[in-house]
Amino acid sequence: MPDYRTDTAHFSALGEFTVADRNTAIADVLKATAAKRMNGVIVYENDKPRWYVDGNKLSRVAVTVGYLDQSFFKAPLAEALASHSEAIEPMDFSDIVVHVDPADTVESIPLGHEAAQYAIYPVQLLGVTIGALFSNESFKASATVPPHKYYCENPKGAHANREPDHGFCGFCPYRLKTSQ
Ligand SMILES: [Zn+2]
Repeated sequence: MPDYRTDTAHFSALGEFTVADRNTAIADVLKATAAKRMNGVIVYENDKPRWYVDGNKLSRVAVTVGYLDQSFFKAPLAEALASHSEAIEPMDFSDIVVHVDPADTVESIPLGHEAAQYAIYPVQLLGVTIGALFSNESFKASATVPPHKYYCENPKGAHANREPDHGFCGFCPYRLKTSQ
């Protein structure tokens, strides 16, 4: 059995992600994600991991949609996931919880039969969620991509913005775009 502490191709500790509740305002989620090293967002519902979201897909939608309708940024995250699911592609967390024992080894990694599919499992140590296990390495790799940066479209020189805020540059009137 792989050890979850060293199996970085599949496992990430909770602290590496942006963790948000489904009711968190989108602007707050994007602000938190921009400060992280990786783009992955774990969305909780009723204190349980419910969806995994690629933060860069969310930021791309935010600068596109939020520019036209700034109320987007104040809306709850779950609203964006529902109304822009094709672009954001939120993934449901598996109902299968991976329990790790106090000896810190994985008791069961349900990877064998689902490795070809994209699935994500909550990992619990003594009943507390400590991270997430990705079904395959390319899925995990997509989560470790750094969050996109924000730049404005000022033709005289793009300002870097730390967060999308309201869809416009904090230094000039131009709209924001993401770095990719
Ligand atoms: Zn600017």
